Amino acid sequence: MLKAELFCHSVNGLPVLSHSFGDSSLGSPVLILSGVHGNEPEGVILAYRLLSEFQKTYVYSFPCVLIPEFNLEGLMSVNRLNGNSVDLNRNLPTKDWNKEAFNPKYPPGPAANSEPESKALVSWIDRNRPRFIFSLHSFQNFMLNANGDCLQVAEAMREICNYPIEESIGYPTPGCLGTYAGLERSIPTITYEIERGLSLDKICDLHLRTLMRAFDKIEELKR
Ligand SMILES: [Zn+2]
Repeated sequence: MLKAELFCHSVNGLPVLSHSFGDSSLGSPVLILSGVHGNEPEGVILAYRLLSEFQKTYVYSFPCVLIPEFNLEGLMSVNRLNGNSVDLNRNLPTKDWNKEAFNPKYPPGPAANSEPESKALVSWIDRNRPRFIFSLHSFQNFMLNANGDCLQVAEAMREICNYPIEESIGYPTPGCLGTYAGLERSIPTITYEIERGLSLDKICDLHLRTLMRAFDKIEELKR
């Protein structure tokens, strides 16, 4: 049974929703986050396809929470950044957070965790301690960027999508979710970098199957 809730309000007061499947009494949830960067619709499409499948049937013994439009204002303006022109995947309070942008295209914000979306995510992660996080992005260099103990799940995914498994995206990303959750809190986190500009058909077939394989693997590992 799907349950939609208000996750947070964006900078300019728009409602960002979360969608949950499975009873929270079943233990810690899997978190699916997408739309962190508003110019990466591939992940949002995949998250909604998964939501649609889960609405038909949800068979897992753990709950799942989806936040498909994490950076709603960025998505509405096809902008990587949020309503304050901050990169939400550089704003999390990691040990390596720095107010100097490593790349001017990825501004980290005036302070770590300064943004309403980041604050809500940090607080949600603290309260819910997810068993696994998938953050759906897109990038020319497609990959499964794996942080924390997630190799078995990443390998199961690779069998379907044939993406390389990498510990790093290839350049420093202070304030990112992989570091915040995966490396600093031991919450297995896969930043799923879907091939940028991939056709809708491929996202909805190949990558839906890949993500569902990941869920099956998490279930299998639980036994
Ligand atoms: Zn991204």
